[in-house]
Amino acid sequence: DAFVTAVSRAKDLNAFLVETPDHALAAAKQADEARAAGETLKPLAGVPIGMKDLFCTKGVTSTAASHILEGFTPTYESTVSQRLWDAGAGMLGKLNMDQFAMGSSNETSAFGNVISPWRRGGGDNAPLAPGGSSGGSSSAIAARLCPAATGTDTGGSIRQPAAFTGISGIKPTYGRCSRWGVIAFASSLDQAGPMARDVRDCAIMLEAMSGFDVKDSTSLDLAVPKWEAGLSSNLAGKRVGIPKEYRVDNMPAEIEALWQQGIDWLKDAGAEIVEVSLPHTKYALPAYYIIAPAEASSNLARYDGVRYGQRELPEGANLQDMYAATRAAGFGDEVKRRIMIGTYVLSAGFYDAYYTQAQKVRTLIAQDFEKAWGQCDLLLTPTAPSAAFALGEKSDDPIAMYLNDVFTVPSSLAGLPAMSVPGGLDAGGLPLGLQVIGKPLDEQGVLNAGL
Ligand code: GLN
Repeated sequence: DAFVTAVSRAKDLNAFLVETPDHALAAAKQADEARAAGETLKPLAGVPIGMKDLFCTKGVTSTAASHILEGFTPTYESTVSQRLWDAGAGMLGKLNMDQFAMGSSNETSAFGNVISPWRRGGGDNAPLAPGGSSGGSSSAIAARLCPAATGTDTGGSIRQPAAFTGISGIKPTYGRCSRWGVIAFASSLDQAGPMARDVRDCAIMLEAMSGFDVKDSTSLDLAVPKWEAGLSSNLAGKRVGIPKEYRVDNMPAEIEALWQQGIDWLKDAGAEIVEVSLPHTKYALPAYYIIAPAEASSNLARYDGVRYGQRELPEGANLQDMYAATRAAGFGDEVKRRIMIGTYVLSAGFYDAYYTQAQKVRTLIAQDFEKAWGQCDLLLTPTAPSAAFALGEKSDDPIAMYLNDVFTVPSSLAGLPAMSVPGGLDAGGLPLGLQVIGKPLDEQGVLNAGL
């Protein structure tokens, strides 16, 4: 009975869209056989992980949590998931997420909200959002349904859900993980990365996931460092910058206190703390919410009812009618909003005013970080401006939802490695996250500071 109750409580979180226990079991059996034969075990031998539904998995439905891909079963495996299987891991299932990774609360999924195990609701308490877009991943790990999962991060979707659920997650340098087989949102920003209970597990996962791939022209042709072996909590000689522009107006006292706690921890570990300036920070969010939708509007043009998943063919419809009907029925509201914003900012009359301008801002933001690296090796900030909010609290107000990404978006625009680690609890007992941002390719520095 206890088992049945536990399973039903687990299912109530709605973290998994598809369950693939046979896949996980096969990996466990292989690990057992290798152990029995006295072979050296692979780094993730038999570890049952969750896979965000943005990754195409051969023979297993992959929908990006959208009706438009309902029933789509890839005939190929994404490079990142293949690398994880090669490292010995097995898949427990495909994890729920915001539709096409657009969102910060997991509420844009076409298959229902994910609930955070930190507060499931009941009585006067609305259930909490697990963050997004990798909310299935964060909820499943926080609820101990799996020890690790994949996430993707375009503007914060690994870090913010990690912060909301008291787990760790790292977005590596843009290009570390291949995007091949990862359903595209905004290609110049999308990066895969691991989410897990602690920094060491993230390092092990990231080592397996990273590496050059000829099938992704933006993948970096560099050897994958031994991040786990390189872990050290001694930060002597490291300078950690505190960007003053991140001290936003009306910052809640508990976020200030969290930040100060992080500063003290890093000092204790031997780091020197310096104040730095990233003057264009306040333009990052508006630039991101032009660039990401622009790229999305182009990437999502492929969902036309011909090649994948859903098709709506009304009586007497011609090809154009079929496209329109399929998209109207298949895409959710947030996805439609992004496509409309994206096509608007890319249209002939507005391209220079919005898209070109946003690209210039992106360069200025990258230059801000470049200059800061003259004064420090790492940056420390809060991950999000608040603890997790309740489901429904921001779902009718896209701007309020977008504001949640204020601390995560700048490092995405600059392609930098960035990690969220648990930083403590707020007054209400909910987890808060601290973010460490590093120089390009310095995942080791980020992981060590997170440790
Ligand atoms: N919340 C941001 C958005 O909606 C980031 C999403 C992401 O990183 N995939 O675009």
